[in-house]
Amino acid sequence: MKEKYKTTIGLEIHAELKTKTKMFCGCKNDPDEIRPNVNICPVCMAHPGTLPVANKRAIENVIKVGLALGGKIADFSEFDRKNYFYPDIPKGYQISQYKHPIVSGGNLKGVAITRVHLEEDTAASKHLPAQVGDRGEYSLIDFNRAGVPLMELVTEPVIHSAEEAGNFARELQLLFKYLDVSEANMEKGEMRVEANISVSANPEKFGTKVEVKNLNSFRSVEKAIKYEVERMTDLLENGRGDEIIQETRGWDENKQKTFSQRSKESSHDYRYFPEPDLPKMYLHKAFNIDEMKKGLPELPREKRERFKKDFGIKDEDIESYINDAALSLWFENVVKKLGGEKELIKIASNYITNDMIGFLETVMVAGTAKYPTPENFAKLIFMNFNKEINSAVTKKLLGNLVIFDEDPEKLAREEGLLQEKDESKLKEIIEKIIKDNPKTAEDYKKGKEASLQFLVGQVMRETKGSANPQIVNELFKEILK
Ligand code: ADP
Ligand code: ZN
Ligand code: MG
Repeated sequence: MKEKYKTTIGLEIHAELKTKTKMFCGCKNDPDEIRPNVNICPVCMAHPGTLPVANKRAIENVIKVGLALGGKIADFSEFDRKNYFYPDIPKGYQISQYKHPIVSGGNLKGVAITRVHLEEDTAASKHLPAQVGDRGEYSLIDFNRAGVPLMELVTEPVIHSAEEAGNFARELQLLFKYLDVSEANMEKGEMRVEANISVSANPEKFGTKVEVKNLNSFRSVEKAIKYEVERMTDLLENGRGDEIIQETRGWDENKQKTFSQRSKESSHDYRYFPEPDLPKMYLHKAFNIDEMKKGLPELPREKRERFKKDFGIKDEDIESYINDAALSLWFENVVKKLGGEKELIKIASNYITNDMIGFLETVMVAGTAKYPTPENFAKLIFMNFNKEINSAVTKKLLGNLVIFDEDPEKLAREEGLLQEKDESKLKEIIEKIIKDNPKTAEDYKKGKEASLQFLVGQVMRETKGSANPQIVNELFKEILK
């Protein structure tokens, strides 16, 4: 079926950059500072007569992002003043970029990037309810965040579903982390996603867009987009398309709804003009862009490809490593200990993603679990591969390993868990089990298959799971023939 309406989405994503100091002054850039107004100075408080000095590291970080996205790094770039009045913007304008962003173009997960530019963050306002004896609601402003380097990335309107938007934003967060340019934690507001959404009955034309703000998680990005698409589709369906207006809407997490905040201002309202207090930037002169490109770390996309090619593991497993730097590093050390053998790596990866991660999460609550040394873990995998231990014992030892991290062979020997391959010894145990369960043995002889399972189970119990169940099965059949 052909969709009746065309959904179009473009994202604007802000990320606070991880620098020692703020964008235009020497104040500490510390997102974890909880005491209000301690990282401030005359520059970021906009005292008269002060002058900004651009933070080179912040510019470098934006260039890195541009290079990783395959965008064009501008030859010429400059800052502009974006004028508006609001208590969180002490100068009465924000230093941002308008005509000459640092980065133009680029692509991530098939989504075309329009631009990436640099600006300063605003102060953080806290709106509080009226107190007893007070005259009404009031607001407090914390200027620690004022002037923190803020990168803004804008995509082209080429996204067509909530899931696609969510996946793009997740991938971008991952990229920022790999490049080490931002912590990009959405809950902490270090990364903020704004979604522009339109729905159109005419596939040749865009509909009127609304912009949704206050999205503090990837889940709310997806839910808010779904909500808006439904809201606008309903209006169109009911002949009320003219009620869709270009506006800014907020997302109410409690009500799981968007609500109108204000009708959208357009760029001329900001009276942008080039910032006269900062020098123009000739980026290819100020930075060695080629060297920077060569110096980029391995990117998520590259790492995925390498893991797929070199390790041959499942996509799902690969994602677990891609998203967790510590786990990934540990896994690569395990791979080395396994001699890079694909067959062994697959077994290892199955135990890691199916069992170990879960064990760690459970035990982590008690605060004691950790990744075992790659040596011990690899040894466990070798023991499993060589059929010295079966799957149940492997899991059992793995549970031990994340707590005690001892030589698994020693552990297995001490606990009597090494697979019993000695048939005569197994036969002895089997004879004993038959003697103890004469009726069940008779039942099996008469054709009751389930009885055999019970008998095998008894042997497994007797040997603490160390017997090879297939061999035990065969032996029973032979003896009870
Ligand atoms: P504005 O001038 O309103 O800020 P821009 O053209 O700068 O609009 O675009 C802002 C964001 O909105 C971009 O991410 C862009 O891809 C997206 N966008 C533009 N038009 C539409 C539309 N009709 N539907 C959905 N998103 C759109
Ligand atoms: Zn300052
Ligand atoms: Mg815009």
